Amino acid sequence: MRVLKQAFGFDAFRPGQEQVIDALLSGRDVLAVMPTGAGKSLCYQAPALVMGGLALVVSPLIALMEDQVAGLRLDGVAAEAIHSGRTREQNVASWRRVASGEARILYLAPERLMTERMLAALARMPVSLIAIDEAHCVSQWGHSFRAEYLTLGRAREALPKARMIALTATADQSTRDDILAKLFDGRAEAFVAGFDRPNISIAVAEKRDAGTMIERFVLARKGMSGVVYRISRKKVDETAARLRAAGVHALAYHAGMEAAERASAQETFLAEPGVVMVATVAFGMGIDKSDVRYVVHGDVPGSLEAYYQEIGRAGRDGDPAEALMLYGLEDIRTRRRFIDEQDSVAERKRVESRRLDALVGFCETSSCRRQALLAYFGEASRPCGNCDVCLDPPEVVDGTEEARLLLSLVAATGQRFGAAHITALAVGHLSDTVQARGHDRLPAFGRGADRPAAEWRAILRQLVACHALEVDVGAYGGLALTEKGERILTGEERALIAKPRPKRRAERRRMAA
Ligand code: ADP
Ligand code: ZN
Repeated sequence: MRVLKQAFGFDAFRPGQEQVIDALLSGRDVLAVMPTGAGKSLCYQAPALVMGGLALVVSPLIALMEDQVAGLRLDGVAAEAIHSGRTREQNVASWRRVASGEARILYLAPERLMTERMLAALARMPVSLIAIDEAHCVSQWGHSFRAEYLTLGRAREALPKARMIALTATADQSTRDDILAKLFDGRAEAFVAGFDRPNISIAVAEKRDAGTMIERFVLARKGMSGVVYRISRKKVDETAARLRAAGVHALAYHAGMEAAERASAQETFLAEPGVVMVATVAFGMGIDKSDVRYVVHGDVPGSLEAYYQEIGRAGRDGDPAEALMLYGLEDIRTRRRFIDEQDSVAERKRVESRRLDALVGFCETSSCRRQALLAYFGEASRPCGNCDVCLDPPEVVDGTEEARLLLSLVAATGQRFGAAHITALAVGHLSDTVQARGHDRLPAFGRGADRPAAEWRAILRQLVACHALEVDVGAYGGLALTEKGERILTGEERALIAKPRPKRRAERRRMAA
C-alpha cells in the first residue's frame, strides 16, 4: 500500500491487482489475465519495488516500453530499456546503469533477453522478478504469435531465484493453457479478473443531510453487519455517536485513535454479528469478513478505484449486499481541493483530476451504474438490473433552456459563485448575499421560480458532470463556464439532462425505515 501510494500516487488497487501482487509477494508464479486498461503494469511494477533487486520486463512493443520507462522515471523509479529502437550508445548506457545496480526495472525485447551473454550476465545480478507482457504471443493459437516468446521459459532456468509473472488481456482458455505450459511448465497460479460482483446492488443518492440519511439506512437494516465510510475523523466520530444514540451497535475506526482502541474495534466487528463500523478509508485493508451486508459512503470516495475496492468488502459470501453512496457537489469540491493542495507534479494532478471527473460521471450517469463502473476498468457488460438506474431509469430530456438559465446566471455573476448562490438566483430566493451583491436586479433573477431549488441543483450537477461547468478549486467552489458551457449558452449545442424528479422511487424504497 505504501509503494502504491508513494511511488505511484494511487489510493487503492484496481480489481484484481491486489490478489496478483499478493501471490507474487508470497513467492508464487502468476499468470494474470486482465482486460486492456485494467492496470496490468502495476502488477509487476509495484512488486518490483517491494522485492528490491532488479526486475526484468519483456515486451514485444517498443513504443509501449518507451512509454512505461518515461512514466516510471516521472514517478522517480529508476527504469531502463534495451531494444532495437534505441541507438547502440543508448543501450550501452542503459546496460551500465543496470550493471552498476542503479536500475530497478529493465525493459527488454525478448530476443535481447534470450542471448547466452545476456542471460549469463543477468545470472550474476539480483534479479527478483521476470514479467512477461503480452504473454499470448507465446501461443501459436493466436494471431500475434512470436517465435522469440517460445524460448522465454528458459529464462526461468537461467534465473532460478526470480519469480515470474506473465500478463495478457487474451482470456480464451486454449491461449491460457498454452501460456501456462510454455512459460511455466504448468506451474503457476492463474488469475482471471472478472471484475463484476453482481450480488452487490449499487445506488447513488443525492446527499441531503447525510447524518439522517445514514441513520435511516442503517436502522432499516438493524442486526446486519455494515460499513459506513466518512471522509474525516470528525464525521466518523459524529456518525458513530449518532448511530449509537439510535440504538445501533456502532463503532468508530480512524487513524486518530489509539492503536489498541482501533484493534479492539476491528476485533469486535469481525467477531460479533450486527456491528456497524463507521470508518475513514484507514479501515478495510486485509479485513476478511464474509457477511458484511452493506457499505455506505457517507461522502464521495477518492476515486472509482477506491470506491470499487471499498464496496467490494460487502457480500463476500455471495449473498445479496448493498452499496449506497451519498453524493453532493460539496464533496466534489472538497476532493478537488485535496488534489489541488497536495504537493505533487502538475501531470499527476491532472491525472487525478481526470479520475475525479470519471467519478462524477459515474454519479451522474443516466445508464446502468455497474456497466459504467466495469467499463472504467475495461470490462464490457450489459445493463445489470441491480443498480438504482436499472431499477428506476431516469427519463432523459432536452434541458437546453434550463441549462441556459443557469449558465447565464453563472456568467452574469462573474463565474465565482457556488451552486447554492446560483440556485438561489434561479428560484428568486432573496438571501443576504443576493441582496448584498444586488443580484436580485439581474434580469434572470427568479426566472426559474417554477421549479424547486433541488431540481436546479440537480441540473447544475449534471452540467458539471458533462463538463459544461467546472468547479473552481479555490476556497469558494465557484462555478465557471467551460467551452462547452459557452456553446450551450449561445445555443450552438443542446444539453440533455435526466428529467428531475422530486425523489427517486427506488431511493424512497431503500430509505424507508
Ligand atoms: P493495461 O496494461 O492492463 O492495459 P495499464 O497498466 O496501462 O493497463 O494501466 C491503465 C491505466 O490505469 C494507467 O493509466 C494506470 O496509471 C492506471 N492505473 C493502474 N493501476 C491503478 C490504480 N490502482 N489506481 C488508479 N489508476 C491505476
Ligand atoms: Zn444497472
